[in-house]
Order: sequence, then C-alpha cells, then structure tokens
Amino acid sequence: MDEALLKQALEFGKPYTGKGEVASYIPELSKADGRELGICVRTIGGEEYHCGYWQRRFTIQSISKVINLAMALEHYGFDAVFHKTKMEPSGASFNAMSRISDNEDIPFNPLVNSGAIAIVELLLPLGLDHMLSSVRGLCSDKYITMDEDVFKSEWSHSARNRSLAYLLQSKGLIDGNVDETLLLYTQLCSLSVTAESLSNLGQVLANGGVQPETGRRLLKEEVVRTTLTMMLTCGMYDGSGEFAVRVGLPSKSGVGGGILSVVPGEMGIGVYGPSLDSKGNSAAGQKVLEYISRTEKLHILDRYTRHPVSASETF
Ligand code: GLU
Repeated sequence: MDEALLKQALEFGKPYTGKGEVASYIPELSKADGRELGICVRTIGGEEYHCGYWQRRFTIQSISKVINLAMALEHYGFDAVFHKTKMEPSGASFNAMSRISDNEDIPFNPLVNSGAIAIVELLLPLGLDHMLSSVRGLCSDKYITMDEDVFKSEWSHSARNRSLAYLLQSKGLIDGNVDETLLLYTQLCSLSVTAESLSNLGQVLANGGVQPETGRRLLKEEVVRTTLTMMLTCGMYDGSGEFAVRVGLPSKSGVGGGILSVVPGEMGIGVYGPSLDSKGNSAAGQKVLEYISRTEKLHILDRYTRHPVSASETF
C-alpha cells in the first residue's frame, strides 16, 4: 500500500463519478460536488496514506449505523439488539417499508433505516453528547460536529423515516419515544466527518476494537466481530452481495458519499465520493475500493491464496 496506488485507484474511479448523482431527497445534500473523490487509509501499524478530497467534511449519514450498532452491543448486549432486528440482508432499498409491514416481521438488520431506528431507541439513555464524544473517540477526530444545515434539511424531510418509526412503534419495537428516537437518529446521521475520520474508525475495527496508537480498548472483540459481519452481509444495502464479490471487505456506505471499509487485522479505509448509484452507494467510491482490493488482494477470501499481482494483470 502506498500513495501511488491510491492515486491510480482514484484515476480508475473518477469516470464513475459521472455515472451517479448526488443525493437530493435530503435537499442540503444536493449541494455536494459529485466530481469530488478522496480516500484515506490507516494501517494498524500507524501509517496513513491519502489522496484527493480526503479532508473534505461531509455528513456520515448511514455510516453512523455502524457506530450505533457497536455502541448498542457494547452497552446493552447482543440479545437486546437482536430482539429488535434480524441479522439478514434485506435485498431491499435502505428505507424500504414493505419488508417490515407484515405483522410478524421485524427489520431485517441494524444497517437499514428501519433496523437502525429501532436500535437508536436503545441509545436514548446515553444521549447525543455521550454519542458525539464516542464518535469523536472512535474516529480520532475532535472536530466532528453536527452539521446543522443538513440536520434541519433532513428533519424537515423525514416523512419516510417518521412512518418507519411509527410502524416500529405499532409493532412494539419502539416503546413510545418515537420523536426522541427519530431526533437522535437524524442528529447522528448529520455528524460531519472526513475520509480520514472514517479510516481511523476502520483502523479500530480492523484492530479488534483497540486503538493502536493509545492501546486503549474502545470496543469489545465480540462487538467488533458482530459489527463487521453485519457490514459484510448488509452494509451496502441491496448492493451488498455484488459488493462482497467485487471487493470482499466489511463496508458501510452513506448517502453523504462516504464508504467505510475494513481490512481485518490490517487497515481501515475511508472513501468520499458523493455521486451515488441507484442504490445509494458512492458510484466511484465502490470502484476505487474494487481497484485497491483486487490489486492488493485484500478480499477477505483472498487471504488463503494471496500473492502479488500487478494492476495491469487485473484490469
Ligand atoms: N439519514 C439518511 C436517511 O435516513 C441515511 C441514509 C443513508 O445514508 O443511506 O435517509
């Protein structure tokens, strides 16, 4: 891994910025420049490599679901979390209602909106301030704040998530705090991060929950294992299967354009590319990750057959 490789990967990904569009269902997000692309890598040995718009601030959006899941598992345990959602890929869009509208069903997993909203109710006793300082700690980024403009924009266009929340309440999956739950969920989606912050979070996850620089354990090992498994199977919405074949790394996307990827035991990767495909995943970001994964043989199933390969052999 080096910066030259990241540069090549961004060059490879750039044409795909034109194949998507920035999110507009949250009006404030439509102000992003879809041509931007950046990446940051943090190894567990402490090296950092970056390229392009790696310092651009953008809202974390659905990548907050990873932190919410990890925090809920850490504080309330496996049973409390998986009482509210299943652990299955949904095969449906991120804000789908159809799959939970049947009487007996609960959300498919904690990384789609319905499941994430149900999980956030568990976090209400911790509150926004505690969550914010945990996010800052996990991302080693003290400059993370709530982007008020994006928050207001999403809050005033939250009919879909509001209906999901009421549906969850009708099923007894949210006790009664619909407004408070939705508020915290939306605030946590509006935290502003960079590709570098995401790579720092990925580094902690890659290192089994211990921050390499400080030696501090931030998350239990089994919390990290469960979180990474959910990311691998469900982190890219209804694109999770194809992404697992092409990239093969536990990852989570957000409609702000971010992707968090983890190479277990090796490194965290943060990507920013706000032009999204039809599933809500960064169009070019996925291609950048595919390039790196194939060139460096990072697919988790390549561990058993890994040997050096040149980019020209692959593409
Ligand atoms: N805040 C967004 C929503 O709830 C998150 C969606 C996403 O990033 O995929 O619609």
